[in-house]
Amino acid sequence: MSFKSLGLSEALLKAVNKQGYTSPSSIQEKAIPLILEGRDLLASAQTGTGKTAGFTLPMLQLLSQAPQFRQRPVRALVLTPTRELAAQVYENVKQYSAFLDIKSVVIFGGVNQKPQVATLRNGVDILVATPGRLLDLHNQRLLSLSKIEFFVLDEADRMLDMGFLKDIKKIIACLPHKRQNLLFSATFSKEIKELATGILHHPVMVEATPENTTVVAINQKVYRVAKDKKTGLLIKLISEGNWQQVLVFTRTKHGANKLAKKLVSSQISTAAIHGNKSQGARTKALAGFKNGSVRVLVATDIAARGLDIPLLPHVINFELPNISEDYIHRIGRTGRAGASGEALSLVSADETTYLRDIEKLVGEKIAMSIIEGFEPDPNASTEPKKQGQGGNRQRNSGSQKSKGSNRTSTHRRPRRNKENRPENRPDDRRH
Ligand code: AMP
Repeated sequence: MSFKSLGLSEALLKAVNKQGYTSPSSIQEKAIPLILEGRDLLASAQTGTGKTAGFTLPMLQLLSQAPQFRQRPVRALVLTPTRELAAQVYENVKQYSAFLDIKSVVIFGGVNQKPQVATLRNGVDILVATPGRLLDLHNQRLLSLSKIEFFVLDEADRMLDMGFLKDIKKIIACLPHKRQNLLFSATFSKEIKELATGILHHPVMVEATPENTTVVAINQKVYRVAKDKKTGLLIKLISEGNWQQVLVFTRTKHGANKLAKKLVSSQISTAAIHGNKSQGARTKALAGFKNGSVRVLVATDIAARGLDIPLLPHVINFELPNISEDYIHRIGRTGRAGASGEALSLVSADETTYLRDIEKLVGEKIAMSIIEGFEPDPNASTEPKKQGQGGNRQRNSGSQKSKGSNRTSTHRRPRRNKENRPENRPDDRRH
């Protein structure tokens, strides 16, 4: 299958060619013809599957074929959960529209609104945005959504996880009734299906990879290790393997900072990326990681969501996530677009339940080994550690009970320490 046979215009084929894409990915093959037909889509696709081109290419084609308004009102809205994903989608939109007369802009919180407003005033066709800043500018009457023809909800599952449901509903209320809707989500919970019912009109369902399955090209491994030996083991793996680009996940912002400091003191260039970092610091860390000047990027789940780091060879779970689906999102950073990659998890005794839940979700046992000198602690408890279990998301099944349910005495809600809780709250609410 070629991009040409999908019915894309010469200008788009030229742009795709410039990006070096030789053939469409599975989600592109399925989604592009349907979107060109004007259908609403409910698409199951994780980051790394090429979903952005999957919705952007046909949208650009339809926008460029339709009659242009003289004042260039915004005709397409792409809503993403995080600033990083918004910035990345915008970059893609610019690349794919390089040979078209289409203008785009990205708006998100955490930075001055003035340049965003100035670009909007000059007229744009495509608006990529996070919900908080979008509503803010709309409330200030600095943008209009009344001429929207395309509405894309990207990473809808993460949107809900981050508590954006109310904002999404407010935004939808500002859109014209007649429009084409595309909803992308890595997972399909009951809530997502409900949301989809409210947004989509006779949608077609397309699936890039089977729901909640890990990418085959990813080599997954678990190292059983004592909690206090994790940092040493990580340093050994990075140094002896001579790994040059490693993405490491921690559960908390505090944990990310602490680990980054230790790696730096072991002469491993490292940056941490999480919601407490300024937008400037996050952009700089990511740029350094991409250009090779930063060898290790330590990230929390929220900060890493949607990062586009092509062909990332190593992803390490320094701590397992307490939400099994996050494991799939995390390891989706490697083995991208067909490339192979390695995802290692350093698992201490108290993470045994999380590991069991993850294995249940991915439907396989993950290969396990122990490295001499970094053995697990035979006396450590296998009870999940109580600190940092707060947050507004459903936790793993198994032995943990979610907020609001009857807790047993061993699973009483821990006292929350601001720094130690998992980072799972919207990070673009602060404008
Ligand atoms: P996405 O899932 O949209 O974040 O895309 C993941 C990565 O795949 C990005 O780096 C894209 O540039 C790349 N990509 C998208 N489509 C293709 C394709 N057809 N062939 C090769 N790479 C692609």
